[in-house]
Amino acid sequence: MNCIQGCFGHKLKIFNKLVMTGIAQSEHSEYDYYHGLFRILRIILYPENLDEKVSKMHEFSIALSIVEIAEKEVKKHNAERVESIEMEIGKLSGIEPMALEFAWDHAVVDTVLENAERKINYIKGRAICEECGKEFEIDFIYDECPDCHSYQKEFLSGKELIVKSLTLI
Ligand SMILES: [Zn+2]
Repeated sequence: MNCIQGCFGHKLKIFNKLVMTGIAQSEHSEYDYYHGLFRILRIILYPENLDEKVSKMHEFSIALSIVEIAEKEVKKHNAERVESIEMEIGKLSGIEPMALEFAWDHAVVDTVLENAERKINYIKGRAICEECGKEFEIDFIYDECPDCHSYQKEFLSGKELIVKSLTLI
C-alpha cells in the first residue's frame, strides 16, 4: 500500500470523510427503538428463516451501506481489508444498537469488514427550544422543553450516522 498522508506505518487511517446521508434519518426514533427490540426478540424466539428476517431489518440495510463504503475505500487505497472502523451514531437516528449489532454480524460475512474491530460512539441528543431558548438533552424526538414545555425545537445533535474513520491494512 502506498504511504500517503494519514498513513501509520503500513496502515492507513481515513478520517471524517464518510458521512452517510439520506438514510436512517427516521422521524420515528422512539417507535423504532422499541420496534427494534421487538424485532430482535421475535427473531430470537422464532429463528426460522433467520436470514430472510435479518435481511428485512432497517439496521441490516444500514450495515450493508457501511460495508459498501468500506469496500469502496479498500479498493480505492489498494488495501486488503479493514482493521478497525469507528462510527458515530446519534441516539435520535432511529438505529437500535442491539439490532445493528445483530444485523452487522450477518452483513459483514465475506467482506472487508468481516474481522474489523468496531467502535461505535453513541452521540447524545441535544436540542434548543425555539420558544424560550433553553438548550437541553433529549432522549426522544418528541420530548418537550423541560422549562416551558414547548415541542418546538431545533436538534443540535443526536441524528448523526457517520463512519468517522477506517483503518485499512
Ligand atoms: Zn422552552
